Amino acid sequence: MIKTDTNFNLLNSHITALIKKDICSNRNIEKCPICESKHYIKYGSFKGFQRYKCKECGKTFSNVTKSLWSYSKKDSSKWIKFTEYVLERKSLRFCAEKLEISLVTAFYWRHKVLQGLNYESVPANLNGDVHIAKKLIPENFKGSRNLTITVRHNIWVIAAKSDENSIIVKPISRCHWHLPSFNKRIYYLIDEKAYIVPYGDRYISLVAKAHNKKRKKEVQNDKIIWPFQIILEKWLKKYHGVASKYLEKYLSLFILYITKKEMNYMEIFKKLSLENKFIKTSDIGISNINPIGVVL
Ligand SMILES: [Zn+2]
Repeated sequence: MIKTDTNFNLLNSHITALIKKDICSNRNIEKCPICESKHYIKYGSFKGFQRYKCKECGKTFSNVTKSLWSYSKKDSSKWIKFTEYVLERKSLRFCAEKLEISLVTAFYWRHKVLQGLNYESVPANLNGDVHIAKKLIPENFKGSRNLTITVRHNIWVIAAKSDENSIIVKPISRCHWHLPSFNKRIYYLIDEKAYIVPYGDRYISLVAKAHNKKRKKEVQNDKIIWPFQIILEKWLKKYHGVASKYLEKYLSLFILYITKKEMNYMEIFKKLSLENKFIKTSDIGISNINPIGVVL
């Protein structure tokens, strides 16, 4: 007797397996995900996936190791759907209910996706007219336990955008303007011949003055940078406050949003899966704090 598959369960699981195979077999492995050594050898295969053995640490891994897939025993189609929800900025509660996963899982998954976007969001360089604005965002300690907070400082978020829709938005410092941090996070991307257009901040104006030398140019206000403070404020509101330690990840999604890049969830999902940069659980939640206390 042939069983019917009225809910398409069989079909779905088959499609999921195919997608997984397609994505993972195209994934480039550059280094051992455990010790990051580049000395590894092919080591048979497992369930159709190429396996490798690291010559340094002796551990074996495969095309699937530490990919988005390896984190979850859950149906992979849930992952794809989840990526779509993140891009649509659905609430965690919504995702958890729709996909029948726990809130905690939803929280971690969102960070995996945002972490992946983070790698994608830095342009190669900024040239032509480069518009720069700032937004001060009050520190947010959401999710941090046992903290006795006496003072909340502002996080300096800088947006720099060139004519051809290349944009970077990064937190650069806490409390005060910090030039070395600005240079390290933003300025290195700006072409020597670029013309900097500052918006309403004396520090950015000083940077512009030094960079532009004696050049003076009439430049039209940029449609994104000019109202940047308002746009970002509105956008962040939807999340009911973002913990400062995660701010940078959310800003990567913000960049996708404001540049109106085609947000094809399947493409992004594929990219996240193919990236040879392994997503580490330690990238989530634990952050490197630089001397001025900004999450880098
Ligand atoms: Zn290794």
